[in-house]
Amino acid sequence: MFIIKKKIAGKDYFYARESKRDGKKVKAITVAYLGKTKKEAEENFRRLTIKPEEKPIEKKETKSLTIEELATFCKRKGFVFKSSEIYGGLSGFWDYGPLGVELFNNIKQDFWKFFVHEKENILGIDASIISHPKTWEASGHVNNFNDVAVICKKCKKATKLDKNEIGKKKCSCGGEYELQGEFNLMFKTKIGSLNPIESYLRPETAQGMFLNFKQIYETCRVKLPFGILQIGKCFRNEIAPRDFLFRDREFTIAEFEFFIHPDEDKCNLLDEKHLKLKLKLLDKETQEQGKEDLRETTIEQMIKEKRLIEWHAYWLAEQLLWFKKIGLFEKIKVREHLKSELSHYSSATFDIDYEFPFGSMEIAGIANRGQYDLKQHEKFSNEKMEIFDESTKAKVIPKVIEPTFGIDRIFLALICKGYEYDAKRENIVLKIPSYLAPIKAAIFPIVKNEEFEKMAKDIYFELKKDFNVVYDTGSSIGRRYSRQDEIGTPYCITIDGDSIKNKDVTIRNRDDTKQIRVKIKDLKEILRKLINNEIEFEKAGKIVETRVKEF
Ligand SMILES: [Zn+2]
Repeated sequence: MFIIKKKIAGKDYFYARESKRDGKKVKAITVAYLGKTKKEAEENFRRLTIKPEEKPIEKKETKSLTIEELATFCKRKGFVFKSSEIYGGLSGFWDYGPLGVELFNNIKQDFWKFFVHEKENILGIDASIISHPKTWEASGHVNNFNDVAVICKKCKKATKLDKNEIGKKKCSCGGEYELQGEFNLMFKTKIGSLNPIESYLRPETAQGMFLNFKQIYETCRVKLPFGILQIGKCFRNEIAPRDFLFRDREFTIAEFEFFIHPDEDKCNLLDEKHLKLKLKLLDKETQEQGKEDLRETTIEQMIKEKRLIEWHAYWLAEQLLWFKKIGLFEKIKVREHLKSELSHYSSATFDIDYEFPFGSMEIAGIANRGQYDLKQHEKFSNEKMEIFDESTKAKVIPKVIEPTFGIDRIFLALICKGYEYDAKRENIVLKIPSYLAPIKAAIFPIVKNEEFEKMAKDIYFELKKDFNVVYDTGSSIGRRYSRQDEIGTPYCITIDGDSIKNKDVTIRNRDDTKQIRVKIKDLKEILRKLINNEIEFEKAGKIVETRVKEF
């Protein structure tokens, strides 16, 4: 990459250019605008060309973690890589690495357990990513799912606006935007080769639930109210993907459609734990005054103020309770949508935002979609979408509440929440809940010695039948501990001199480095209880003084 200067209308403009081979020719293409002065250009150029791995991150305080540092950490530790990096990457696409996929799967699994297995009235499905093209006409996505591309007149940065933001929003540099046109966000694809038809990669998973609604009602012995849930990949052709996993073109959504009798306003599942749940709310009145002040309220109060119907309130509370379970609730706020920003299908929507070290970002949401989608599909397919409701003996089209979760963003929230630099240990400790951690335990023979290694290997293979565990003999014990701290492994099991004599091992706790001794015959059961938070660490075995000086 190199810098060039262009004179436009007598003024200097600096750009970064790159040589690319195009067949036999070498072409120079502009990659970025750098500024108006040489100094500014050089500084921006340096920032552009610095490799993420050259930026020091290890000794930073959690509070100031930036998106770039988070991306670097995720790359270095094998959580997330740029897609097709050997070809220079592909904007808006990312790959989960060996540790990332474990954490990601654990989040999905816990979500499924909480919202499908532990609930009485929700069924899971896994629908196809490509569906009949009529689906997207009916849903309104063909006509309405557009963003407006704009370029800042001052700093030349390209970005997107929602339609309602045109003329209202300015660039962060203060510059006015120049409109570049409206673009549909769906990825088009062709199906078949001889007489191909055009369809789309799904931009949301919701339609899969609407298309299957009637079949599930007729085949799965359910009655209203009930929900259909799925977790899956979605695709949006973002105009300007950026900010790591926050605005990308391929991502994973978990969502469900909860179908309710259209006349039903009461929710019989609302109890104290929902009603009394305190949350931080940014309501629409405050936003209409141009302010962003949060106020503490309760689910009960929100129902009284008629911000949402009871079933909507119940599912919002359940969403928050799951965030509480996985440890993200403290930094969560709920934002009510203004009338002007409601989607074409929604009558009330709330964003659930997480306070990241670099700012507040939406990680989930909940919308009242009413009867919109089912009625649209009835119109476009000529299939009746009404069902016979036993309790009212009437044919009805249900109304729908839709909770949505961005799993990639929740993944990042968990890493940010857990990321902590420990000055005493001089390494990062990734404090994620043990049941979500990619690796549950690491097994170390304290020294390289045949007898220790044999015992450690036996334990490793036995534990591997039930848990994702690793075995490590390389480097000092302190180094091995810190390696596990950094990737969030909650427990390290060490085989030492006493282990041979007494048939026991030590378990070290990631969060406070305390150690206990337990019998090998009890190890698996104790580990299971520790991982599931069923027992306190200090009560799980005999506390020991650390024999080996760790650092
Ligand atoms: Zn600008």
